[in-house]
Amino acid sequence: MTTSASSAPPIRLLVHGGAGAIDRKRLTAEREQAYRQVLAESLLAGHAVLKAGGNSVDAVIAAIMVMEDSPLFNAGKGAVFSHEGRNELDASIMDGATRMAGAVAGVTTIRNPIRAAHAVMTQSPHVLLISRGAEDFAAGYGLEIVDPSYFYTQHRWDQLQKAIAQEQILRDHDMESSPSPPNGDEKHGTVGAVALDCQGNLAAGTSTGGLTNKRYGRVGDSPIIGAGTYADNRSVAVSATGSGEVFIRAAAAFNTAAQVRLQHIPPAEAADRTLEEIAALGGDGGLIVLDAASNFALRFNTSGMFHGAIGNDGVARTGIFPQDLDY
Ligand code: ASP
Repeated sequence: MTTSASSAPPIRLLVHGGAGAIDRKRLTAEREQAYRQVLAESLLAGHAVLKAGGNSVDAVIAAIMVMEDSPLFNAGKGAVFSHEGRNELDASIMDGATRMAGAVAGVTTIRNPIRAAHAVMTQSPHVLLISRGAEDFAAGYGLEIVDPSYFYTQHRWDQLQKAIAQEQILRDHDMESSPSPPNGDEKHGTVGAVALDCQGNLAAGTSTGGLTNKRYGRVGDSPIIGAGTYADNRSVAVSATGSGEVFIRAAAAFNTAAQVRLQHIPPAEAADRTLEEIAALGGDGGLIVLDAASNFALRFNTSGMFHGAIGNDGVARTGIFPQDLDY
């Protein structure tokens, strides 16, 4: 997919809200509308930054914060529970112009983990801070700290009880598709965004609660630079969602960017090749990929992925299933 010809420099933002075995028949029209509404709000928040001449990093943060603040998505408020009944959040961000990056993992009190990831990137010499260290750092930087109960939602609590009963570790977008999925029929959550600003700079970010019923201390791909998130102006910005352990092993986001840079293939082809590798390793999920010329791809090898795109025309396009990808 390419940008339409226009004299203004291209701006673009893509978002995802997780991929999984989403069953259209079980997803009510109201619920689909609710998801698409938040995706559109996220796109418009990021687009407002880009349209005003803001940078891609700020657009990614604005877009992700909308989804973190929504209980519908597995990030921030509405995050899934670990086995012990805690919400342990992971997030990362990367600036394609400088290849600076920041991330937090296993945090339980930071309202918007993507902001903490940004603070790590811009205010510390580090790339990844975890748990208490990340929380203390975020508090010191003036970010909003909340009681862990802020993240509680009944829906996620019920998911945890079901997962425990079934002895499963589940990804998100689960219960609306199948109340008792068979083993391996896992669903994904996580939110992410990639952006191109009017200066031609790319950025990517990802935020998640991880997996329902995950082991205490488990960290997935989302806060791992090169696995869940990567951005490089020379190639693409990437945010991933899916089987975190496999995405780490496949260095999925970096792998996608490296293929574009070194093999000179379009974003969609690179994403497909990465997803083939993910599948070969026994995983699945999705990738959103954007280059500095505004070519982009929203790809997934699951039945659905909550997604959206917006460009210079300011029209927020959202979808869930492959047939929704009509742009
Ligand atoms: N990749 C995320 C993780 O493993 C989960 C997801 O995208 O659904 O934590």
